[in-house]
Amino acid sequence: MKKFALLGHPLAHSLSPLIHQAIFDAVGIKDTYDLIDLAPEELSGRLPGLLQTYQGLNVTIPHKQAVLPFLTGLSKAARRCGAVNTIARDGKGYNTDTVGFLSNGLPLVGGNILLLGAGGTARMMAFESVAAGANSLTLYCRTAAKAQALVSSLQAAFPTSGCQIEIASTPEALSDSLQSATVLLNGTPVGMWPHAGGCPVDPSLLHEDLVVFDPVYNPTPTRLLLNTRKKGGIAHGGLGMLVRQAIASQGIWNPELQLDTDALATAILPALTRHLLSDHPIKILLIGFMGSGKSAVGKVLAQKLGIGFVDLDEVLEQESGTSIPTMFATVGESGFRAVESHTAKRILSRPGSEVVSAGGGLPVFGANRTMIRNTNTLVVALDAPFSTLWERISTGPAGSRPKANGGEGSTEALYHQRRPIYRSFCDYSVESKSDNTPAQTAELVLQGLGLPSLS
Ligand code: NAP
Repeated sequence: MKKFALLGHPLAHSLSPLIHQAIFDAVGIKDTYDLIDLAPEELSGRLPGLLQTYQGLNVTIPHKQAVLPFLTGLSKAARRCGAVNTIARDGKGYNTDTVGFLSNGLPLVGGNILLLGAGGTARMMAFESVAAGANSLTLYCRTAAKAQALVSSLQAAFPTSGCQIEIASTPEALSDSLQSATVLLNGTPVGMWPHAGGCPVDPSLLHEDLVVFDPVYNPTPTRLLLNTRKKGGIAHGGLGMLVRQAIASQGIWNPELQLDTDALATAILPALTRHLLSDHPIKILLIGFMGSGKSAVGKVLAQKLGIGFVDLDEVLEQESGTSIPTMFATVGESGFRAVESHTAKRILSRPGSEVVSAGGGLPVFGANRTMIRNTNTLVVALDAPFSTLWERISTGPAGSRPKANGGEGSTEALYHQRRPIYRSFCDYSVESKSDNTPAQTAELVLQGLGLPSLS
């Protein structure tokens, strides 16, 4: 039995033990993986002993560069980016984050790369992009001195590279670079739980010719990924990188195992997704016009993800003890909207991952959209032509939808008023086809989110 460990500080919420245990289970070995929380001032005193006790170590923030003086040698990738995340028994340092990053198959060769941030992950992605033969690399970072330092170290490491390396120093320059970029790499934590409503660039600037890589994996997916897919671009998330760097570390420590990386990564994904939905809860909010199937699809979607489902309209009726048409009649639409906003905020802010279906009017109001963005919520719109929706609305119980009481003409006018709002506000849109069952539409939502079915 071999012993491995991760050194870092702080280490709360690390997924590494779960991933390495899943690898051990999948290949049927009894090795162990510990977490060792090591403050920076403890590193020099404890590292030599830990290298004797453990057959292999992973290293994370803040030790990735600090361990370098203690190592017997460096792999090419670790030398290139000056950071180590894996140490072998013989004391040699490796950087398997590069393996995880490159496994996405991004079109780096000849690409025009826009890189956000200048921290550890950004640095690794910058070095690998230039080494791969990018045509240009533009850095955008809120701390100008850090961007300049990264440019200087790239120029020193690749003195004869044909890659044009520059800094975008204003939001306008960022916008211009994004337009001409073929690859966007996020090296910032923007969009990470508990701020899943964040996106490191204005989503409206994303375009269909863009391939995006976002190393952030909680939530899976991020808003950046969903908005890229919504625009028709290709988007890769960070969970694959996280899993593949771990498998690559095991390949260094246990070369005799001959690990099948793709099969292992696929096998580990459901357990990881379950863990993330439980440990870093998010809401998946379904929006759309009446009749788009939010409640029916939401129920199946929640079931497939093994999380709860909430129908906001049902909650409003239960808590008020009256039906929505009666609420409209007694307190008026404005009274109803006030209660609806308040209830939506409470539900979207409460603990636990859930699928939530909203009434068609909720996202129409700017204040509600702002409120939704300030919670850990990803927004999926269910879209359909008006003819499909009217067929469903007109065959439902008479008077159950106050906003359709005016008949087909006024309901269609409302549809054309609301649909552009749903489409621009949502992070991802799925067509709720007339001949699709709720299960089929829920499957399309899962595909868009890049999440596996867990049931
Ligand atoms: P880091 O070294 O702390 O660097 C973070 C960078 O983002 C810095 O340039 C920082 O700028 C910038 N930044 C931070 N907050 C920002 C904000 N609100 N707006 C704009 N820029 C901001 O972190 P890291 O280790 O590179 O990690 C970055 C992200 O990658 C993390 O969120 C992590 O989840 C993810 N990651 C994923 C994997 C994986 O396997 N999938 C592995 C490693 C990291 P300043 O210097 O100005 O603060």
